Amino acid sequence: MEKAAAQRTKERGGEPVPALPSNLKIQNRKMVLSCFRDNRSHSVADVVARTGISKLTVMKAIQFFCGKGILASSGKGDSTELGGKKPEYFRFSCGKYLLTIRMWPEDLGLTLFDMRMNKVDSSHLAWIIPDAPEEAFRIIENSALALLARAGVDREELYGVSLSSSGIVDYDHLTLKYSVHTPNWGANVPIGDYLRGIFGPGPALSEENAGKSISRAILNEQEDPNRSILVLFTSWGLSGALIQDGRILNGRNSLVGEIGHMILDQNDPELCSCGSRGCAERLVSVARVRKMIAGDPPPEGSPLSRLPAEAVELRHLFASSRQEDAYARKYVAYMADRFAALLRNVSLVFSPEKVVFVGDYAVADEYFDQRIRQQLSSFRYLSLSQPMEIAYDTRSLTELDALGGAVALIDHYLSRPELYEETGS
Ligand SMILES: [Zn+2]
Repeated sequence: MEKAAAQRTKERGGEPVPALPSNLKIQNRKMVLSCFRDNRSHSVADVVARTGISKLTVMKAIQFFCGKGILASSGKGDSTELGGKKPEYFRFSCGKYLLTIRMWPEDLGLTLFDMRMNKVDSSHLAWIIPDAPEEAFRIIENSALALLARAGVDREELYGVSLSSSGIVDYDHLTLKYSVHTPNWGANVPIGDYLRGIFGPGPALSEENAGKSISRAILNEQEDPNRSILVLFTSWGLSGALIQDGRILNGRNSLVGEIGHMILDQNDPELCSCGSRGCAERLVSVARVRKMIAGDPPPEGSPLSRLPAEAVELRHLFASSRQEDAYARKYVAYMADRFAALLRNVSLVFSPEKVVFVGDYAVADEYFDQRIRQQLSSFRYLSLSQPMEIAYDTRSLTELDALGGAVALIDHYLSRPELYEETGS
């Protein structure tokens, strides 16, 4: 296979700048190859229909990638094309693997994918994230080696390794700039160095904030990747991603997307881990819900009266609201109003066509949804604008996070210029 080939790089030192037709050829090849990243087999006719590129050019490009071992035939299809010939199908054919790691506050998870993003194996461990990064990465190393051994995959067979965590990431230097979940680790934790220590110099590395990793999985599935989307990650924190023109916005300091720290109420007494008061993250946290319920116990008729306040989860609140429990709805309305204020503020600097809730608030009920829409429409500027679509993605955060990590590594693979050039690979 092309295992060694994927590692090789090519010197392009004294070569003249390629003429435009060659650039066009490379552009076409990129468009053709990008059709195959959906993990399916495609015929020449499929690719022509998707890209609008001529049949001859598509055939040549597919031949080119087959020659390099990047695509391979997956056999003839059942249906016949015009003229009675059965079309040949092709698919992605890189024999390497991708390892995604989620280093979350209470959960360490690893997922191994092949290069077609099929899940090969996974493992997870409930942990309290250790006080020292050395200890955390020792555990990660043990878990990774155990998973690779179980799957019969060698470290050298990894194309790439991704890691997602809480906090703010410096993408250029592969460092964790800071996370409130690991204050003892300090600032600028060299995640890339720790991963290199485990996996060696070979694999491509990617580091990502969990909310953004999940958003990348969602972005990858959008029919129209150019829509402006706001993903709201609601779990051990409130963060998200602003997606525009198919890209996740990070900003100079990677702070874009940390919308949980938008201040909604400066007079709120609770101090946020960021040092401010009244951050959205604190106002809509499950801890806040429990505190409010503890101070205002539910009446006997409410389903919530069967639970101690400290055991209430957001899903209990929404389930009670679904049963038209007036007590639960009082707090659902409180939460919806905070989110409406947040969305109102966001819409003044970024104009999402679609908002997607993932995590705890993805299981919100109809009442929550209606209340947000009603609050948003009472803001006059927004009432005159096209409404934003609000969606709730109830898939597990861990599954979405692993997919997002795999997508980042596949993007890395497909961005390598040597994939599209005549020689080398
Ligand atoms: Zn804050």
